[in-house]
Amino acid sequence: KRNLDKVMLYDDLEPGSTNILDRMVLMGEMELALERGDIQWHLQPKVDLAASRPTGFEALARWRHSRFGPIAPDAFITAIEGSKLIWPFTLATIDAALGHLQRLGPTHPHLSISVNVSARVLQQPGLVEHVIQKLDSAGIDPRRLVLELTETALISNPSQARKVLDELATRGIDLSIDDFGAGFTSFGYLRDFMVREIKIDKSYILNLTERSFDQSLVTCLAVFCEARGLRLVAEGVETPECLARLLELGCRYGQGYGIGRPMTIDAALTWIVEQEA
Ligand code: C2E
Ligand code: CA
Ligand code: CA
Ligand code: CA
Repeated sequence: KRNLDKVMLYDDLEPGSTNILDRMVLMGEMELALERGDIQWHLQPKVDLAASRPTGFEALARWRHSRFGPIAPDAFITAIEGSKLIWPFTLATIDAALGHLQRLGPTHPHLSISVNVSARVLQQPGLVEHVIQKLDSAGIDPRRLVLELTETALISNPSQARKVLDELATRGIDLSIDDFGAGFTSFGYLRDFMVREIKIDKSYILNLTERSFDQSLVTCLAVFCEARGLRLVAEGVETPECLARLLELGCRYGQGYGIGRPMTIDAALTWIVEQEA
């Protein structure tokens, strides 16, 4: 109960709520926070809407700051992305995800964890080796790790991105296109990269039941994904009406506050048991 209250607190934060913080101070503190483990990754369920059972979780960063309280990821990730901290931050993200997979492992070996990967990291030498070596030593099936990338990750350096992503995909790690439709969406990415999953941006889902445009888009993507053997995930599923409509339109997977909020690993383990009951 306590943990869930804290989760609500994080999710009530508006992005950009740390504008008042001095960037340099924040970065210095971020480095310490990473070392001290003050940044944690909460888990938000991703479910099979048709079978109504979880398929995995997305790991979302939460920084519990000693003076400012909880800081939302939108506020600090942009700052990190522009700094050299992005590499240690990404390593910490992957380590956290693998730790969570190990905790899920014995009882729920079929569940996956998705991590968000920033564009810049694809240019970092050693990314593939790090991920593979960590999976190996933790004894985790690569199929249980999903990497979510936004389109900007693929735009900024397509040929480098492609090399790295092909390598990861060949090792069995699933790639997911995040926030699909929010930016400079091009179907070229879907053709050129070994993508396994598309996540429709929540801006198309939040008002789905009222907007015929959004419904047409979901329908069209559902047909496309079915034909290509891709998973289609709707983000921002807040209501039962939205969930029902998604199923009617052929979208099989969903994520959102109406299904489950981001929660601690302990809360997630309890949540799974509740779903099975
Ligand atoms: P995202 O990858 O699109 O993650 C989904 C965001 O939508 C999360 O916000 C989640 O809490 C929120 N959300 C989930 N369900 C609903 C819903 O039903 N309605 C609404 N309105 N929102 C919903 P959060 O946790 O604040 O994360 C914001 C963004 O920060 C993420 O967007 C992601 O781009 C980035 N981020 C979070 N953690 C990490 C990380 O570890 N690494 C990197 N590189 N980026 C991260
Ligand atoms: Ca949030
Ligand atoms: Ca994401
Ligand atoms: Ca997203």
